[in-house]
Amino acid sequence: MEIISICIPCYNEEKSLPIFYNEIIRIAKLMNEIEFEFVFVDDGSSDNTLNIIKDLAKADNRVRYISFSRNFGKEAALYAGIKYSKGDYVAVMDADMQDPPALLPNMLSAIKEEGYDCAATRRNSRNGEPVIRSFFARMFYRIVKKISKAEIIDGARDFRLMTRQMVNAVLSMGEYNRFSKGIFGWVGFKTKWFEFENIERVAGETKWSFWKLFIYSIEGIVAFSTVPLALSSLIGLFFCFASFVLIVVIISKTLLWGDPATGWPSLASIVFFVGGIQLFCTGIIGNYLANIYLETKGRPIYIVKQEG
Ligand code: UDP
Ligand code: MG
Repeated sequence: MEIISICIPCYNEEKSLPIFYNEIIRIAKLMNEIEFEFVFVDDGSSDNTLNIIKDLAKADNRVRYISFSRNFGKEAALYAGIKYSKGDYVAVMDADMQDPPALLPNMLSAIKEEGYDCAATRRNSRNGEPVIRSFFARMFYRIVKKISKAEIIDGARDFRLMTRQMVNAVLSMGEYNRFSKGIFGWVGFKTKWFEFENIERVAGETKWSFWKLFIYSIEGIVAFSTVPLALSSLIGLFFCFASFVLIVVIISKTLLWGDPATGWPSLASIVFFVGGIQLFCTGIIGNYLANIYLETKGRPIYIVKQEG
């Protein structure tokens, strides 16, 4: 029989895990044409998550787990999960029930019967999300769509089911700075999208603060586009041109009407402005440099402490 692996990154999910597990085994019972494997990745939780997972593994031999030596972040946990999984099909989903397991049967049949390589999900609403967060999220997707070659879909969740072939493609991208939404799009393959209404997490709270999301979105842009680099030279070019025009204007003005030597406030403003732009552009370059730095160090994406 074919095997489907379900990878679940968990970070302090002691409250949602039992609920999630009950739901997923309910779905697994319905899908009796395929064997299940559950890969729980404990991302250095500080609560009782690991013990709950161990208990599940004792009671159910389909459950396997890895536990990190510290919190490495969801991206690392996702990577570890799919690397550890053995199935012919691999699904990744959150432990908080925001990714409804009930979609799995349809997702599987899209791959098996309709010939897709991947079944992915997206939210068609952002209900229950803070307004500012939605606004910035939309803006991020709009920018990224324009400047990135990888297809990154607005509202796409990490919840997806992939064939072994696609999983191997994702695993072949062993980059340290991981932005899964971009990676899934970059590897290509035929993807069927399933839409669902946003669901709020059943228990516990989200690990993403606004600031964390902001940093993550910059990582996403840097990882999948070099347009900001080109943009900084464009801005530089524009300022060269503007200053040239300004010089011509000032020289002709001085020649025509003399030099009353006023106007230092505007001068100061210009100095600040140009200085700001320069720092901004250096910052852009710095971001790429930082990524190159981290990438060349070749550090492991995660470190396993226990597995079972
Ligand atoms: N997660 C993780 N490591 C982290 C943060 C989150 O493994 O450092 C897991 C978390 O346990 C959950 C999933 O990633 O299963 C999504 O996290 P969360 O629900 O906090 O994100 P949101 O759904 O709000 O985007
Ligand atoms: Mg969530």
